[in-house]
Amino acid sequence: MSPYEHFFWNYAFFFRKPWAWKVGVGGLLPDLVYGIAFLPKLFFYRSFMEWMHDPLWDTLWNSLMARSVHSLVVWGVSLSLLWIIANRATFNHIYPFIIGWGLHILFDAFTHVSDGYAIFYPLSGIQFRAPISYWERAFHAREYFLISHTVMAVLILLWIGWKLKRFLKRSPKISSGP
Ligand SMILES: [Zn+2]
Repeated sequence: MSPYEHFFWNYAFFFRKPWAWKVGVGGLLPDLVYGIAFLPKLFFYRSFMEWMHDPLWDTLWNSLMARSVHSLVVWGVSLSLLWIIANRATFNHIYPFIIGWGLHILFDAFTHVSDGYAIFYPLSGIQFRAPISYWERAFHAREYFLISHTVMAVLILLWIGWKLKRFLKRSPKISSGP
């Protein structure tokens, strides 16, 4: 799915936790491979589909870097290494980012079809193909976009309402004093 959706859903799952933003940011990390490479070209596409059909996608998608960061095996090894090497405080500080990275791999597994990743790379090269794609119209991309963005909009409104309620509940204490 697209980077902002990764951030959104990762954050949404942990929205009550003060470190939810770390899980959100962790969800952005794997796609930095694409983000950095596309950044200088991004403003020169005439349409979304022209961008989606740039051969650079394939080059990056096939790269060792993109394969590695979209592998649950590499993810699991990284998490284990961090747990072994880092002290308790450092581990606690960093692991929400790693959780976000892992969720990115899982969400991608359900939203990519022809460009699905081998999630057990390098142990297995078998590509994971979901029934729905976030960008391929032949695989319900339009419907996916509509549903995903409607749900996100509703959740954002609920979240604002929840924040407002908490804020209003808290504010009388400030005015009530001796
Ligand atoms: Zn991705």
